[in-house]
Amino acid sequence: MSITTIGIIGAGTMGNGIAQACAVSGINVVMVDISDAAVAKGIATVTGSLERLLKKEKITAADKDAALARIKGSTSYDDLKAAQLVIEAATENYDLKVKILKQIDALVAPEVILASNTSSISITQLAAMTGRADRFIGMHFFNPVPMMALVEIIRGLQTSDATHAAVHAMAKALGKTPITVKNAPGFVVNRILIPMINEAFFVLAEGLATAEDIDAGMKLGCNQPIGPLALGDMIGLDVCLAVMEVYLSDYGDSKYRPCPLLKEMVAAGRLGRKTGQGVYTY
Ligand code: NAD
Repeated sequence: MSITTIGIIGAGTMGNGIAQACAVSGINVVMVDISDAAVAKGIATVTGSLERLLKKEKITAADKDAALARIKGSTSYDDLKAAQLVIEAATENYDLKVKILKQIDALVAPEVILASNTSSISITQLAAMTGRADRFIGMHFFNPVPMMALVEIIRGLQTSDATHAAVHAMAKALGKTPITVKNAPGFVVNRILIPMINEAFFVLAEGLATAEDIDAGMKLGCNQPIGPLALGDMIGLDVCLAVMEVYLSDYGDSKYRPCPLLKEMVAAGRLGRKTGQGVYTY
C-alpha cells in the first residue's frame, strides 16, 4: 500500500509541524482538530513558516502554494478515511489518546497504519487499545518538526515488520533520518537527555561550578549547541522533573532520582523560560 495521504490528529505545535513536513514532501495531508479555531491556527502557523522559508529563498512561491494546497484542515474524523497512515499528535493525555485511537480504529480501513507522536506514553499499551496492534507504531518527531531531522520510530511489542518498514520509508520520504527503538520509557533521546539535565543540576547543587561554566563546559567540550541547564529552562523544569519521576517509578532504579535542587526550583514555580525564571533569569 503506497502512502499518498497522511491524516494528522491535532493541529498544535507538533501536528502542524508534521503537516508542513508532509506537504513540502509532496504528501497530501488531512489535519484534524477539535475546533475551527484550532485548525485555522495550525494552518496559519504552517503558512507563516513557509513564508519565512520563501523570504530566505529556501523555497519558491510556487512551492509554498503547492504545499499549502496539499493540506486540508478539518474538524471531522470522517475526513481521515482518505489517509493510508494516520499520525496522532493530540494533547499528551493517556485517556484522551485512547479515546481518539479507538474512534479512529473503528473508522479507517483495516490496512491503515496508526502512529502516535507521544513523548511518554507506552506504544505497546496504546497499540493494545486498538484492534490493529500489528499496524500500530510510534513516530516521535522533534520540535520544530520542519527543522529537526530526527524521527524516532518506536516498535511496540506487536508492531509488524511490514508496518515498521512502511513507516521507516515514509520518514525518509519526508526528508527525515529515522532511528528504530524498542518501546520503553523515554525511547532513546529523552532517556539520555533528561538524566543528563538532571545530572547537571546535581553538579550545580554540589557547587562544583557555576551554571554558566557547566553550560559552557558541555557546549565547548561536547559540541552541544546549548548547555544542559539552559536546555532544561527551555524544555520546562516541571517537564524534566515529571519525566525523571516516570523513569524512577517505571525502571525502579535509583539512578533516576530527581535532583533535590530541580525539585526545589519546580516547587518555587521557577519552571524556566515559560515563567521568566529557571536556572537563568529571562
Ligand atoms: P499542543 O497542545 O500544541 O497541540 C495539541 C493539539 O491537539 C491541540 O491543538 C488540541 O486542540 C488538539 N486536540 C486535543 N484533543 C483533540 C481531539 N480529541 N481530536 C483532535 N485534536 C485534539 O501539543 P503538542 O506540543 O503539539 O504535542 C502533541 C503531541 O506531541 C503530544 O503527545 C506530545 O507529547 C508530543 N510531542 C511534543 C513535542 C513538543 O516539543 N511539543 C515533541 C515531541 C512530541
